[in-house]
Amino acid sequence: AKASGRNNFQFFDSKIQDVVNAHVALEIELRHGLSSDEFVLHFQPQVDRENRVIGVEVLIRWQHATRGLILPAEFIPLAENIGLIIPLGLWALETACAQLAVWEKQPERSHLTIAVNVSTIQFCAVNFVEQVIAVIDRTGADPHKLKLEITESILLDNVENIIKKMLTLQSYGISFALDDFGTGYSSLSYLKRLPVSQLKIDRSFVRDVLTDPNDAIFARTIITLGQCLGLVVMAEGVETEEQRQFLFEHDCNAFQGYFFSRPLPLIDFEQFLDQNN
Ligand code: C2E
Ligand code: CA
Ligand code: CA
Ligand code: CA
Repeated sequence: AKASGRNNFQFFDSKIQDVVNAHVALEIELRHGLSSDEFVLHFQPQVDRENRVIGVEVLIRWQHATRGLILPAEFIPLAENIGLIIPLGLWALETACAQLAVWEKQPERSHLTIAVNVSTIQFCAVNFVEQVIAVIDRTGADPHKLKLEITESILLDNVENIIKKMLTLQSYGISFALDDFGTGYSSLSYLKRLPVSQLKIDRSFVRDVLTDPNDAIFARTIITLGQCLGLVVMAEGVETEEQRQFLFEHDCNAFQGYFFSRPLPLIDFEQFLDQNN
């Protein structure tokens, strides 16, 4: 192996080049996709303890001309690295708020809230607050129905500044959910200062909640913590009746997951709503 070290290096080097080339190609396609409207939102219902649909989380997908539907894991990290997450996230927010404004005029849908994922990079952009308020103005959406899902990684930035921005948005009626809760590295003392109204139990705890005693303890602790702080606790990634039952019995407030519905295109989601009303 030592003798061929140099060849290995060249081989490795060309592998790196392949990866770099693929990234550059994806970057060009991503920018093109945004300018030519290739992104869509899917809607996943969120239900209360009586299984009533109380809202949706919007999840972005890339409808690629030749590669079909691409999931966010394949493009969000790159979009974050090249800053494209800012216009992409703004597009998602604007599209979601436009939908909110439409539903507000429909009596059987006017109660729905919409949760939009906001990347930490997007939130930390200097004009984020102004951009959100501009979207609310442009679309006419009710800010009280808008929920922004942020993650604990937001605490890596200047916490005072983050809280200030959140409070400004909150004064307009916008609320916050802490996504993927329990997977981050945040200290509880910071956490309790964040003006969030909801905790989302990460899917990784829900998955094995019935079989892994540690995950069961985590899930129950998050629910108790949320209760103590006066927050709504939502479980994500609920796939079975048994998982829902366990979380329900331990006083979880709201649920989301394939057990209720996968994320759906708009038409299918509206049909789902009509059938579950
Ligand atoms: P997330 O915010 O934690 O979203 C939940 C993910 O779990 C979604 O994956 C959803 O499709 C999936 N999921 C929901 N229920 C279940 C279930 O019962 N079982 C399993 N196995 N999975 C379930 P998706 O749509 O692939 O999104 C992945 C991540 O991409 C999201 O994780 C979020 O972090 C990010 N993302 C999605 N849309 C946006 C967006 O508009 N902006 C930003 N910044 N990030 C987004
Ligand atoms: Ca989320
Ligand atoms: Ca999540
Ligand atoms: Ca996640």
